[in-house]
Amino acid sequence: MRRCKFCGKESYIMLRSPRMALCEEHFVRYFERKVERVIKRHKMFPESAKILIALSGGKDAIAAAIALKNLGYEYECLHINLGIPGYSEESEEVVKKQCEIVGGKLHVVRLKELVGEGIGERKRGRQPCSYCGMTKRYLMNKFAVDNGFDVVVTGHNLDDETAFLLGNLIHWNVDYLGRQGPYLPKGLKLAARAKPLYELTNYEIRKYVDLFNVPVVESKCPFSRGAKSILYAKVLDEIESESPGTKINFVKGCLKNRNLFERDEEIELKECRVCGMPTVGDVCSFCRFWNLGEGVDLRVR
Ligand code: SF4
Ligand code: ZN
Ligand code: ZN
Repeated sequence: MRRCKFCGKESYIMLRSPRMALCEEHFVRYFERKVERVIKRHKMFPESAKILIALSGGKDAIAAAIALKNLGYEYECLHINLGIPGYSEESEEVVKKQCEIVGGKLHVVRLKELVGEGIGERKRGRQPCSYCGMTKRYLMNKFAVDNGFDVVVTGHNLDDETAFLLGNLIHWNVDYLGRQGPYLPKGLKLAARAKPLYELTNYEIRKYVDLFNVPVVESKCPFSRGAKSILYAKVLDEIESESPGTKINFVKGCLKNRNLFERDEEIELKECRVCGMPTVGDVCSFCRFWNLGEGVDLRVR
């Protein structure tokens, strides 16, 4: 039986990088300290910042919510119901239960009520993930801006980030590489975006959430099959298992060298003609894609 490195009790988890066994109590401390270090290092939550956590129903965002609560932060929660038959109903139900446990006030935004259809309901000649990501980012930001939140927290973790980075490197998506990172600051009509789980793996998050007895959505989105990011994550898992520490070095290196990809000139943002939110063109991608004649109003009354 392995024993905890700090107290000698029976271990709950064996970490590979750094290599050590930890009991339940010391693992929770290790996890939350790591979250707090990332928050402090990137100055994610200045005093009096109004925090919104985007909960999808999965393990990651609820892990962020539990850790933030245990660290003494206050926040409200947002769930975006994407209108994916079966999957979205289940996700909304799970999020409601998660919020009862963490005690955060929950707001729900339903895509179908806003634009008349859900993700993937109509054939559009492109993979649903390609417009789902844009839709979620828009709604999270619009909800935050409409209701005075300063920062939106998401559950992106080390495995997600390394898979995104690899995909963007392979395709030389220089714009993304110049903008990536655990924290994107606030701008005009743009809430800051924070990823406090940036240095934690899927495995660590799963083991952390298991200790708090919260429900998580176990089924997968029907559109996730065949997504390229899954392939990149698999390849990175293999490299990590041969050479522990590769993923964290990869993200830290990309962050340190982000300036290599930053543009000299600022992109000039205009106001979307339909909704008034920032955009590079005349109409933002959200209003254009969903063919809106007027902007969505997400103010809570
Ligand atoms: Fe959206 Fe794709 Fe994720 Fe499904 S797998 S929730 S379609 S981004
Ligand atoms: Zn211990
Ligand atoms: Zn718009």
